Amino acid sequence: MNDYIWLLPPTHVSNSGDKLSLLDFNNLQIRTLAGPAEIGIDLLHAMDGERTEEEINGLDYASDLISVLEKYELIVRLQKPLSEILEGRIWASRQLAYYAQLTRRYPERCLEALADKRVAIIGLGGIGMQAAQALAGAGISGLILSDFDTVDASNLNRQFMLSTKDVGRLKVDVVREFLLDRHPHLEVDVHAINPFESPSDQWERGDLFLFCGESHLAGDANELITHKPVIQAGYIGKEGVVGPLRWVEKGTPCHSCATKQSTQYNEFYKSEVALRTSWNCSGSTINGLMGNILAEAATRVFMPWVGEALALNEAIYMDMKTLTMRRDIADREIECPHRVPAPSL
Ligand SMILES: [Zn+2]
Repeated sequence: MNDYIWLLPPTHVSNSGDKLSLLDFNNLQIRTLAGPAEIGIDLLHAMDGERTEEEINGLDYASDLISVLEKYELIVRLQKPLSEILEGRIWASRQLAYYAQLTRRYPERCLEALADKRVAIIGLGGIGMQAAQALAGAGISGLILSDFDTVDASNLNRQFMLSTKDVGRLKVDVVREFLLDRHPHLEVDVHAINPFESPSDQWERGDLFLFCGESHLAGDANELITHKPVIQAGYIGKEGVVGPLRWVEKGTPCHSCATKQSTQYNEFYKSEVALRTSWNCSGSTINGLMGNILAEAATRVFMPWVGEALALNEAIYMDMKTLTMRRDIADREIECPHRVPAPSL
């Protein structure tokens, strides 16, 4: 009864005539509510996230209306007043409304879960850049960005943080400026290094690693990759893959062992490649899609109670020609000495 009651933000209500109707967008139906329309409207206005259920229940028809709205999943419960949750972070208002779609009960827990998390992004191409913006907007506190590349004019079709004036500059510098202009609260560490040759000691501060790009090389990277959760994302041509999510503590093989044991692929790259194409098929749409799905999956690592966007060891495969997705488990039989056995019951 001490929860603060918030009418789910996209709820549309009409009181034409003597009836109160609302659009139940969960089921795409118009619902007509019983009781005097004027009272209903006042009650709905009172569900602004600033009043407790107890206070609202003091009004006529309140408990009836709340139970009907609850049935249609249009009531959000907050532990604190909405204004208090958003104090000092009005930028998070729309994100909170989004989290209310994922979990009606205490969506502010999503913001709290992300507010002290740092994500390390290895590779700042079209995917990494998109994921960085999406995660900053989702409410994480910090990003650790690694890429040794400079901006090339051919990057501009998809890497939206870059402009023509940035050509020749280090990508990490441009991306840091862009992110801080837009998200001044964000902590952004950048490393202009080849992460596969000289991993940064700053990586230790990351709670999650995202490998965006040529992740088959990561088998030779820092030992950190053996004990931090990792999600990789990349594409070849028109086919993209986000995942798998590898997390040794939860019983999957680690990213390092898994990439080392993709033997056929690794052996091919260790051999001398006689013809190497200079271009990948780097469309803007495939990059944006991969980066955003990767970011959504990454947030779920920190707030698993809203539902698994990506199960452990699972990957999401996308075919851009047919715009279809499928999900599958990766790494079925991979040996990994770093793996922590799943606790027995
Ligand atoms: Zn391992």
